[in-house]
Amino acid sequence: MDTATVVKHTGSHYLLTEPERWDLFPAVLRGRIRLKGSSATNPVAVGDKVRFERPSGLLPGENMSVENPAVITEVLPRKNYIIRKSTNLSRQSHIIAANLDRSFIVVTMDYPEVKLPFLDRILVTCEVYGIPAVIVVNKIDLYDAGHKEMLTAFRNIYENAGYQVKEVSAVTGEGVDELREMCRGSLSLFSGVSGVGKSSLIKALDPSLEPKTGEISEAHLQGRHTTTFYEMYRLATGGYIIDTPGIRGFGLVDVAKEEIALYFPEMLKVAGECRFAPCTHTHEPGCAVKAAVDAGEISPERYESYLGMLEEEGKYR
Ligand code: GDP
Ligand code: ZN
Repeated sequence: MDTATVVKHTGSHYLLTEPERWDLFPAVLRGRIRLKGSSATNPVAVGDKVRFERPSGLLPGENMSVENPAVITEVLPRKNYIIRKSTNLSRQSHIIAANLDRSFIVVTMDYPEVKLPFLDRILVTCEVYGIPAVIVVNKIDLYDAGHKEMLTAFRNIYENAGYQVKEVSAVTGEGVDELREMCRGSLSLFSGVSGVGKSSLIKALDPSLEPKTGEISEAHLQGRHTTTFYEMYRLATGGYIIDTPGIRGFGLVDVAKEEIALYFPEMLKVAGECRFAPCTHTHEPGCAVKAAVDAGEISPERYESYLGMLEEEGKYR
């Protein structure tokens, strides 16, 4: 029995590749593969490692084709995965990608403006899924003194929280080699709001790639066709990436109020020292998180984002 990785999924058809190669071939599912305890509408997602069988009608030396596809028989256990929940009441969810090694979140100090509470939500989402997040600051070729000052403050906040912050320019190529090196031998997810230069950056990583541009409407991201928008690409220099259609495609997750702080790494570090457990880190006496904020060890911006998420908990899916 052979194993392969899922590169693309459209309707009932899958495109697979064998590991360490890029020999895309079509596949279908055998019967109904169901994940235990999952309400997902798609049992197999991009990034999944699967077992497959060659079709029985295949002659020796003949390749698998749309007429003679491989048959996926089993999905191997996932290291992690990201899901999108449906906004309607069906409570269905869609697995959009699996087995990610890291998630690059592209921002810029130029235009469009980086919104910290929004970035923090994305970071929390990555923490919930167990996917290491790396922040990529693009368009550094444009930065004047004001931008640079912003960048220093930004770096302080996020490095202090435990995140890597990489500076790049898709236009001059500065920092791109380092990013390409990070991508080698792994699977990376790219996200970022429209206009930050995500497509330009992917093209800078590998000029042969043609990332799909533009925002995809929320309606398109609902239901059965979601997966069509997620596709794995191979970088010529090694490594695989998945582009996300606008940042909204990278859905937010359900986190119970008392758990939100667990996904702020710098809060998690000190939360064990709070006098009360559970502690919401808002009004409780002897709160180690509040003490760390007062001592300047946790940035006020991150703490504000945390408070915002506590308040809005329930509004998000
Ligand atoms: P996306 O919506 O995130 O995919 O952004 P695009 O790649 O389409 O880029 C948005 C705009 O920013 C375009 O006009 C790009 O030319 C520009 N841009 C992207 N990256 C850079 C960069 O590193 N430096 C400069 N100066 N402009 C950039
Ligand atoms: Zn506390």
